[in-house]
Amino acid sequence: MSWAKERLKKIKEWEESCEYDDFIDDDAIRSFLKQTEQPSEKSVLDVIEKAKTNALKGVMLSPLETATLLNTTDKALWEEIFKAAAYIKEEVYGNRIVLFSPIYISNPCVNNCSYCGFKSSNRATVKITLDDENLEREIGALLNAGQKRLIAVYGEHPKSDSTYIAKTVRTIYGVKKDKGEIRRVNINAAPMFEEEYREIKMEGIGTYQVFQETYHKETYEKVHPKGTLKGEYKWRLFALHRALKAGLDDVAVGVLFGLYDWRYEVLAMLHHAMNLEKVFNIGPHTMSFPRIKLTSSTQDSSPYAVSDEDIVKIAAVIRLMCPFTGTILTAREEPHLRDEMIKKCGISQTDAGTNIGVGAYAKKQQGNDLPKQQFAIGDHRDIDAFILSLIKEGRLPSFCTSCYREGRTGCNFMPLAKHATIKYLCIPNGILTFKEYIRDYASKDVKEIGERVIIPKYMDMLHENLPQVAAVVEKMMAGLESGKNDCHI
Ligand code: SAM
Ligand code: SF4
Repeated sequence: MSWAKERLKKIKEWEESCEYDDFIDDDAIRSFLKQTEQPSEKSVLDVIEKAKTNALKGVMLSPLETATLLNTTDKALWEEIFKAAAYIKEEVYGNRIVLFSPIYISNPCVNNCSYCGFKSSNRATVKITLDDENLEREIGALLNAGQKRLIAVYGEHPKSDSTYIAKTVRTIYGVKKDKGEIRRVNINAAPMFEEEYREIKMEGIGTYQVFQETYHKETYEKVHPKGTLKGEYKWRLFALHRALKAGLDDVAVGVLFGLYDWRYEVLAMLHHAMNLEKVFNIGPHTMSFPRIKLTSSTQDSSPYAVSDEDIVKIAAVIRLMCPFTGTILTAREEPHLRDEMIKKCGISQTDAGTNIGVGAYAKKQQGNDLPKQQFAIGDHRDIDAFILSLIKEGRLPSFCTSCYREGRTGCNFMPLAKHATIKYLCIPNGILTFKEYIRDYASKDVKEIGERVIIPKYMDMLHENLPQVAAVVEKMMAGLESGKNDCHI
């Protein structure tokens, strides 16, 4: 308790001297939604066209334009929005889907968020903080399944402070197996002070992710009790500002959908992205749109619960709204919905082979084990089964980690995404990492479709558009065949 008390005091001091202006204007958000109620067909089609041209110029939609899409009611117009989402994704990133796995490393938490299985008042949680040995076992199991990219997740607790987080990232990168190693560790952890961010940056983390959960202050204060660290709205709202100031240049935003009105939240997330661009000239690297799921203590019955139909709309609008930002879909959703969203919403990243119980990968846990999980997940397909579903649709699965290792982060990454040229790196690296996966891990079906259909399809695309790059990739693929690992550009 004294750790939390001391920290809360420091957080309040920070809030009092905060140098940033609040970018969530409640009245303005409501006014954008009000002005665009029942939009005409023409106004929706105009915004869709604008979004498509924006995608090639790296420009976001305005709040008013985004509100027009959010207020669309006509089914046929929604189909046009879905088509545009798929088009934009393909123009910016190509038809590749980047795969990662979440790893929950420590679940004790001093906070008491109403929706979360790890909340301090939930006696049903089995509290686990992985030590080095158990963490290495988890990483071994993930490497054996073919994973190269992780997002590491932590509760907020003195046991999992910035020094522990830094140590675990070091441990993860340190595990080496014959078939390779983890090449990128992203982080989802509670907001920190700048010096703490610098501590974890030293370990070479990829993206740093903090979800605001809800931008609606009143709701935020209702679900995050006063007196807890997470109860401090402003501290969390500027978590990514502090991270960018401390030099972490890939940051990621998200909303936990189901806490408040989804149209309000999408517009608020846009304001967050606009403010990061304005202050740091770096927009969010990714946007996430998790929905509240069942936990070992709750099944939130919120008046704002988001339906399957609406989560598809949310993801598609986000793709049109911020064309250069990656979008992340997770295994919270059921397989059929995930497949539909990948098809319709221009999703660029998703998890595969997901197991979110602390210590669950090494134990080969099947299905949910709620006392060790933050919430229940809906998609239990393993990595290979998930890849099979992607390649049957002609998509290119990718384990690419090259950008951040080649220094393409923050200001160096954004122009590539904004000018829709990043695909010329995503596709070659997707081919190379998929080839490595096929060589080392693929089932018979994945190998057959991968080698006969997918790799030739994307190589043809490269030969047609970028013959010199195609030649380099051919050479690197030969290297992979003769036993080299980790070939990328
Ligand atoms: N403790 C850190 C924090 O609060 O930032 C890490 C967050 S948590 C381990 C990762 C995310 O899971 C949260 O930010 C929240 O959006 C989401 N989450 C929490 N409870 C959830 C639930 N019941 N269903 C779905 N997602 C949930
Ligand atoms: Fe703790 Fe995060 Fe869960 Fe809140 S959402 S109880 S801060 S782990």
